[in-house]
Amino acid sequence: MRRVLDEYRAISDEVLKPHEKRVPRFLEAMKKSLDSRANWTFWLPYVLSLDTCMKCGTCAEVCPVYLSSGRREIYHPAVRADALRKIYRRYFTLAGRLFPWLVGGEELTEEKLDALVEGSYRCTVCRRCAYVCPVAIDNGLLIREARKILDAIDIAPDELREKGTRKQLEMGNATGTPTPAFMDIVEFLAEEIQDTRGYKIEIPVDKRGAEYLVMHNAGDYLAFAETVMGAAEIFHAAGVDWTLNSPATGINDVVNYGVFFSDVEFEKVLRAQVKTCIDLKIRTLVVGECGHAFEAFKYLMMRLIPEEERPFEVKSILELIDQWIREGRIKVDPRKNPEPVTYHDACKLGRLGGLYEEPRRILKACCMDFREMQPNREMSYCCGGGSGFAIMTKGDFLKFRMETYGKIKARQVEETGAGIVALACSNCKGQFREIINYYKLPVRFAGISELVANALVL
Ligand code: SF4
Ligand code: SF4
Repeated sequence: MRRVLDEYRAISDEVLKPHEKRVPRFLEAMKKSLDSRANWTFWLPYVLSLDTCMKCGTCAEVCPVYLSSGRREIYHPAVRADALRKIYRRYFTLAGRLFPWLVGGEELTEEKLDALVEGSYRCTVCRRCAYVCPVAIDNGLLIREARKILDAIDIAPDELREKGTRKQLEMGNATGTPTPAFMDIVEFLAEEIQDTRGYKIEIPVDKRGAEYLVMHNAGDYLAFAETVMGAAEIFHAAGVDWTLNSPATGINDVVNYGVFFSDVEFEKVLRAQVKTCIDLKIRTLVVGECGHAFEAFKYLMMRLIPEEERPFEVKSILELIDQWIREGRIKVDPRKNPEPVTYHDACKLGRLGGLYEEPRRILKACCMDFREMQPNREMSYCCGGGSGFAIMTKGDFLKFRMETYGKIKARQVEETGAGIVALACSNCKGQFREIINYYKLPVRFAGISELVANALVL
């Protein structure tokens, strides 16, 4: 394996195309990214973050990958983002074009571009660093912008693009599950509920005009089915008008990997998801246990699609469950979950989504012994599954995930003494599955819906 940054590789040479002349195309794409009319997402914080950094190092002391790597310089948030800043100063400022050495500008070479690509996939864009920067620099955002520029010149992980957004648009979901197989899975899950709980529930699919459309991360149907079953039991117990949807209706997968690397891919997926909701005439889209999907629908959608073109509400499944428990619409008995439980704040639900109290209220209502991980909430450490990493395993990338982010998280979980880690994000579940195996932790993880369903009193 050719070394381009460190001992790991997130992007293969097949995608990187090191023998092509990519620098002129990169500079052209970066020029476009600096135009506010061509960059609708976060143009202002992007250019501000490019312009200012005092090199105080505050961000480094909270970055999980930098800390767990033994403070390796290449993982320092400001140093990593500087790869983009140096290009900006050299090529896109007047001083840089005239006197590059005065402003810290640097000539971009093909080798430096290789390193920039890999560096862009060493940060999960968890934004913990942005929380502490005294001048509000967002190095995570710069990494996302770098990924967008790279995508514009056709460099993006195939797990996220070819096997992610493009497959989702073609098949209706990123797992490529066709409608007949999807219907079989739903039938199987209903039977499973009957076998384990002893009662039969109907799981509605493709019902038009329903009050709630519950859209899960498609990976949950295959890898974390307890989450899907738990949600079905909760909606049944609440006695509300709800439905799942199959790929026959359009998109039946709440993920949008474009959030991680491309506004272009993001927009295509989002518009297809919105069209599906409109066609089904649903009143509320319930985002299943998926962190980045919540960010996409709750915050990014409003910047792209006017309110009158999206005639439905969006709610996280956590918001609804919390509301229903408080209203007494569903009843739960915490004695049904006697084991100590801790909760991991997914970055996209917490720091980027503001959902801190909802999962805690739910868990305290449904479990006998809830224990906080330290630190938590705003200062929670990313588990290392974010920004697409949970499905990136090429070469020894899984080892990178475990030896950096995973190491901190494993220690945090152990310190709680809990037997169950409650999770509300599919990518976190993928990462925790590996962390538990890698560090042989004596715990299991469970989706919040699964724990709530287990505590239901019918
Ligand atoms: S905390 Fe902010 S100003 Fe300080 S090094 Fe990090 S990005 Fe730069
Ligand atoms: S976004 Fe997270 S992983 Fe990336 S540099 Fe900041 S703290 Fe580190």
